[in-house]
Amino acid sequence: MSPLTTAALQRLDSAHYLHPFTDTRQLAAKGTRVITKADGVWLTDSDGNRILDGMAGLWCVALGYGRRELAEVAYRQMLDLPYYNSFFQCTHPPAIELAQRLTEVSPPQFNHVFFTGSGSEANDTMLRLVRRYWQLRGEPERNVIIGRWNGYHGSTVAAASIGGMTAMHEQGGLPIPGISHIGQPYWFERGGDLTPAEFGLRAARELADRIEEIGPRRVAAFVGEPVQGAGGVVIPPETYWPEIQRICDHYGILLVSDEVICGFGRTGRWFGCEHVGTRPDLMPIAKAMSSGYLPIGGLMVADRVAEVLIDRGGEFAHGFTYSGHPAACAVSVACIDILRREKVVERVRDELAGHFAARWQTLAGHPLVGEARTLGLLGALELVPAKPARRFFGNRGEVGTVCRDLCVENGVISRAVRDTMIAAPPLVITPAEIDELVARVGRALDQTAARIAREGWS
Ligand SMILES: *Cc1c(COP(=O)(O)O)cnc(C)c1O
Repeated sequence: MSPLTTAALQRLDSAHYLHPFTDTRQLAAKGTRVITKADGVWLTDSDGNRILDGMAGLWCVALGYGRRELAEVAYRQMLDLPYYNSFFQCTHPPAIELAQRLTEVSPPQFNHVFFTGSGSEANDTMLRLVRRYWQLRGEPERNVIIGRWNGYHGSTVAAASIGGMTAMHEQGGLPIPGISHIGQPYWFERGGDLTPAEFGLRAARELADRIEEIGPRRVAAFVGEPVQGAGGVVIPPETYWPEIQRICDHYGILLVSDEVICGFGRTGRWFGCEHVGTRPDLMPIAKAMSSGYLPIGGLMVADRVAEVLIDRGGEFAHGFTYSGHPAACAVSVACIDILRREKVVERVRDELAGHFAARWQTLAGHPLVGEARTLGLLGALELVPAKPARRFFGNRGEVGTVCRDLCVENGVISRAVRDTMIAAPPLVITPAEIDELVARVGRALDQTAARIAREGWS
């Protein structure tokens, strides 16, 4: 425990610490919440408040906090070999074991992995590897990668370019050349009078239209999250991904399933692509890969890509100092072993997903909630000024921020993406804790509605 008081910590924080994705001036005025301890799904702040972590940190702490086994694995590995690189003909047991484990739990086409330190690096690696692949195939002009507006693939230059967050593009002259974006399969916002199934097809066919526009011989790959996470837990209609797969096959372009959030059980399958029924060529992974205990990511590479890279490639001029970091790899191996031993993924699929869906749907009756949706242990609530219209508040984002702050006051972490409230609790949450999560979000919704009525927002 820090010997400093909450006020002293906040003062130092605001004096020196530039937080990610944060308005520093606004944060300094409001003060930060200092999290000091955590156990299971519960966080404790520096004032002793206990808060249910409905977001698993940032989607990553799948196995919950306070897992001694993971800490001990890291400790032992650091004593044995805290660091060594995998450049220059060297390797070490944790990276080898992890590579082998990953190919066991991932779909059968994946027998190779490239290690990175994060999901962003995994997506930067993906861009370089996709372009290298087409170069080796003798089609260097095939270099355009198509992503989606409001998709999220990380915050490094290539990852932020492939992502479709306009606020990120505007701040740094992004996207870089050779990136194109199509619309997202977000029925609540874009579906109009179409049924979700009709809309899913239409949204997927934007990919075919875009490929035709750019020129089929210039498009290298399509990348998407099976379920968009940071974009607001956008669960696509069931018609969407099969049509995307068909289009990728038809044009012979690579399909990239960004599994940084959906991977390792979040949807009740090991990988989101298994839920939506695609056969990706590449899968960026990170987050739950180590349950957030140490930073690590990777890019799973399917055989047909790996073969070209290995047989014709020579040196792939790419790598990071921390590619395959021994301690992070050892922790990731232990995470996969725990996921298997405790049958966490099966439990999400067979027990928790249904319970969470049923409880979360009770919030759909709230006057403020225009739609409640879930998949596995992902949930979203669309906050609307009036039902049943699928219409957003005038000043988009304001109500969501109010609701998010009220969630924390009610002892639960939820996140607001504009006016969409989202949840992604640790996969080890109990049914009783799910009930508690939903009850607390429900109280925050009541208080948000009262505030809206008081202030006359519409
Ligand atoms: C978080 C995220 C990333 C980026 O991962 P970092 O570890 O933050 O770099 C990439 N893709 C998706 C889908 C993510 O949610």
